[in-house]
Amino acid sequence: MSTEAKSSKPTCDKFTAINELAKRRGFFWPSFEIYGGSGGFVTYGPLGSRLKQNVEAKLREFFVKKIGIYEMESSIIAPGKVFEASGHVDHFKEPMVECQNCHQRFRADHLLEEKGISSAQAEKMTLEEVAKEIERHNVVCSDCTGKFGEPQRYLTMFQTTIGPYSGAIGYGRPEAAQNIFVEFNRLFTTARERLPFGCIQIGHALRNEISPRQGLIRLREFTIADLEFFFDPEEPNCNIITQVENEVLPILLCETRLKECEDTTNLTVRQALDQKIIRSEWQAFFMAMAKRLLTELGVPSNKQRFIEKLNWEKAHYSSQSFDQEVLVDRWGWVEVSGHAYRTDYDLSCHMKASGVDMTVYKEYATPIEKEELTVKPIMAKLGPVYKGEAGKVAAALAKVPAQQVADAMKKDGGIMVDNYQVFAEQVDISQQKTIVRGTRFIPHVVEPSFGSDRLFYVALEYAYNMKDDRVVLSFPRSIAPIQIGVYPLMAKDGLDSKAKEVQKLLTNEGFMTEYDETGSIGRRYARADESGVQLGITIDYDTLNDSTITIRDRDSWQQIRITIKELPTQLHKYFEGNYNFEQLGSIIKS
Ligand SMILES: [Zn+2]
Repeated sequence: MSTEAKSSKPTCDKFTAINELAKRRGFFWPSFEIYGGSGGFVTYGPLGSRLKQNVEAKLREFFVKKIGIYEMESSIIAPGKVFEASGHVDHFKEPMVECQNCHQRFRADHLLEEKGISSAQAEKMTLEEVAKEIERHNVVCSDCTGKFGEPQRYLTMFQTTIGPYSGAIGYGRPEAAQNIFVEFNRLFTTARERLPFGCIQIGHALRNEISPRQGLIRLREFTIADLEFFFDPEEPNCNIITQVENEVLPILLCETRLKECEDTTNLTVRQALDQKIIRSEWQAFFMAMAKRLLTELGVPSNKQRFIEKLNWEKAHYSSQSFDQEVLVDRWGWVEVSGHAYRTDYDLSCHMKASGVDMTVYKEYATPIEKEELTVKPIMAKLGPVYKGEAGKVAAALAKVPAQQVADAMKKDGGIMVDNYQVFAEQVDISQQKTIVRGTRFIPHVVEPSFGSDRLFYVALEYAYNMKDDRVVLSFPRSIAPIQIGVYPLMAKDGLDSKAKEVQKLLTNEGFMTEYDETGSIGRRYARADESGVQLGITIDYDTLNDSTITIRDRDSWQQIRITIKELPTQLHKYFEGNYNFEQLGSIIKS
């Protein structure tokens, strides 16, 4: 297979062009190709793995480093109980139809969307309604034009058995959040038993999609980054909201969507909170962070939006949900992150199912003095009346709430308990003081959840540019899979060994480099541009005399000349974002 850059303009759409480029340059390709492939699985190649790591490093930089979110890593397979408790076994289902002729299976809601029914409408439908709409629009199998059978709900989790026991059902996790909830008590201890705190898990998840046909957008095995942020619902304020208060969020509101309109409303975080459009400050904070994250991945803010989810579109655990979407060439608006206010849903479910207490204790700032009504039987008076049964009367009386006894005495002068008549003068009713120092409660949770593969794809699509009929991947410099390419003008006369020396110097400085001596320098530049290599360093005959080299910018193709000695300091400044390319040295006029 040729590794040379194709220098023709793509005649196909960006999605096809990117998938072709991705195979050619080693970003990603469909897995198991030698066996004919298997839909929904993808392999990241050398450049893709680097890029994906850089995208995930951004997530860590944003949340783990900058705001101190914890990180954890747990197993992909979980015992059935976990997903029974979380509600997934009941709810994680999609409507499916099967072609009665070729037995191909399809997502019924996606078929209806192709007929112009909005996803919001399709998601709301019962199976009967789905069947009716399929009939009405005369939807047939796209492979063989066969008719579809009755729609059914299909569980999209991968099911397995744990060990050799058929009864020990396990599921591949369809998200990474449940691991965090089931480990809550340990995490809370690590957090020194203080709220608020958050924990992120970035890892593989599995969804047995019915018919994934959208490349990296819909995979059966993918990487998810679930961040669960726990807080006290009585103290819901975000103490760092000022960092993002003026960030503008373009939101497609429910009320707009219900009018079948796609206009977004631009609101600052502060406005969205004041107008109660976003109910949780923490949720608003994470939405603003998500917007900044996508901007740093190269997606301009006017290509991003947030969708407020309608009631019937929300996941079963969520009280308010927004999806962050990015506009892509082939698929239109695609979800890249979801923002759900999960309240205490998950912890409550796991508490109930496991029997383990997952409440946290909160000490009141000042202990509360509580007056408690108590009813005490006066045995000296009950004894003479009931003789040997006086004890039973007292026990029966103790089972009745104090307030009820007090009310009856006041109203009727007596009360019947277990067929015994007790009169007011036989009991002592008084207020007693108790000190309450704190209370136990279940924390609330807001969750931002990112699809790592989708972040990867949109970063790639927005980096994809044409310059002079050639493909240039203009990644933001903080995520470029390779920072510096090192090229000897010729692979001889000591230029090659000098170039390797320079490469060594740069790797020792911590830069991600690549050495390339194959083909003409022009071809090497073209290859590097197509791979998104940020800078190219060329070693020529002058280098051997005066120790200067040429640095070439991937995006502008400008070149500058500086000494090898200056290189490390200048490059650090450049990759830390403190210098522009022009500040690296003197521009060579061409
Ligand atoms: Zn068919």
